[in-house]
Amino acid sequence: TTDLDGKVALVIGGSRGIGAGVAARLAEDGADVVLTYQHRDDQAAAVVKQIEGFGRRALAVRVDSADPEAVTTVVDRAAAEFGRLDILVNNAAVFFVGPVDELGREDFDRMIAVNVRAPFLASKAAARHLGDGGRIITIGSNMVERTVFPGFSLYSMSKTALVGLTKGLSRDLGPRGVTVNLVNPGPIDTDMNPADGPAAATIRDFTALGRYGSPAEIATAVAFLAGDGARYVTGAVINVDGGFSV
Ligand code: NDP
Repeated sequence: TTDLDGKVALVIGGSRGIGAGVAARLAEDGADVVLTYQHRDDQAAAVVKQIEGFGRRALAVRVDSADPEAVTTVVDRAAAEFGRLDILVNNAAVFFVGPVDELGREDFDRMIAVNVRAPFLASKAAARHLGDGGRIITIGSNMVERTVFPGFSLYSMSKTALVGLTKGLSRDLGPRGVTVNLVNPGPIDTDMNPADGPAAATIRDFTALGRYGSPAEIATAVAFLAGDGARYVTGAVINVDGGFSV
């Protein structure tokens, strides 16, 4: 389809895993795509090539989501260089776990900075550019509903904050015709959570479908929310988790 023809999307954290899958899918659906990343120039360049392969414009910008000014700046830059902004996808996150005795204030601050503050600042900056039909889509986690392992206090906290951020922003931006939604993935086979990792068998057993998902299976939900067909969906929390939360 070319549902997103003429639209411009910004994917925060688009060089690998789910973000890379989302960036490619939005391009396949017709959008020009700006993506950010932190370290992996090679991976970011590969995603840019993939987007260009769909005949769309692409730009990768190295921006640490922990840097608040840089996050705001890249949103404005995307809108300026690509002429408009229609879709923001907040995907980048840090993931680290540990027992409460071992997690400290610095861990708390970094988790909040990347997983919560950056989505807030990017959304705030994007709101200045998004017009009627604009979209903000954030990637949360299945851990919001069901935190099944010890060690997840900070990660689960950070992802749960996105539920409130999404609902609050949907009220703020609804009158402008901008929708704001949260996609909560289940176990998805990426570098962050490899399907052949040490805990994979246990994680898989928590799903109703008995398997890991793929980045493309998250991207298809994001593409739906980004498209015109989802224009009456806002403030929603959508589990795409193979039944992990049931
Ligand atoms: P990956 O670790 O595989 O990829 C993370 C992506 O985000 C990379 O492109 C990375 O860039 C970028 N990124 C990470 N930190 C920063 C930062 N500080 N600044 C800029 N970019 C950054 O993660 P996944 O694809 O697995 O996860 C994507 C999202 O999905 C996250 O929000 C995660 O919490 C969520 N999620 C994932 C699940 C899973 O099972 N995989 C389950 C539930 C939720 P670079 O390549 O440069 O490092």
